[in-house]
Amino acid sequence: MEKLQQLYAGKAKSVYATANPDYVVLSFRDDTSAFDGEKVEQLSRKGEVNNKFNAFIMQKLAEAGIPTHFEKLLNPTESLVKHMQMIPVECVVRNVASGSLVRRLGVEDGMNLTPPVFEFFLKNDSLHDPMINEYHIATFGWATEQQVQRMKALTFEVNQVLKQLFSDAGMILVDYKLEFGVFKGEVCLGDEFSPDGCRLWDAETRKKLDKDRFRQGLGGVIEAYEEVATRIGVPL
Ligand code: 5GP
Repeated sequence: MEKLQQLYAGKAKSVYATANPDYVVLSFRDDTSAFDGEKVEQLSRKGEVNNKFNAFIMQKLAEAGIPTHFEKLLNPTESLVKHMQMIPVECVVRNVASGSLVRRLGVEDGMNLTPPVFEFFLKNDSLHDPMINEYHIATFGWATEQQVQRMKALTFEVNQVLKQLFSDAGMILVDYKLEFGVFKGEVCLGDEFSPDGCRLWDAETRKKLDKDRFRQGLGGVIEAYEEVATRIGVPL
């Protein structure tokens, strides 16, 4: 489907209209950002790796019965997705303590979390994506109560599918962030699932294989993404 005018440019992806108002083209760029856009670099091949990674994961989730916006891969860096109305909250599930949870609560990095922790954040870079709860979402009308419950349930379903998928490939799914939207009245998973928005550690060595390599200046960022992709069977 032909790509028409650009509708939106995010930090790592751009969205283009198509002739069909129900579908848009999601274009994955090599731009890599951290700290709410304060650190930005171009990492060669990242757009292609993340586009293919996301397509693979979205298809696995769809096979497990999770509604997603993904339709099909168009080319190495672009996918066709449903044109959703996005819900401006981020849903995070944590299986192991790391990142902002450790900074906020002073718990030990690497601690197993049983049961897993669920958190909502407001998607707003200028406010540094503050943590919010269901009362904020209701009061400010960011989503309905039904949508909130659906997002939570789907985020935990994703955990069941992906914890196993990564574990089978010798990795720990530490945590991840999901975004949802509404398409023809149904809450569907949107945005992307890639090592840009999750933490993945090697199960034996606990080597970081995700965007923390970029955030922490550890190097080998794309090489780690490619390693994860190869291990789970993403055709690159
Ligand atoms: P934390 O709250 O520890 O910074 O992040 C928790 C998880 O959600 C991590 O896997 C992190 O990569 C992801 N995450 C949280 N906020 C964002 C965001 O704004 N963009 C992306 N790409 N990932 C995020």
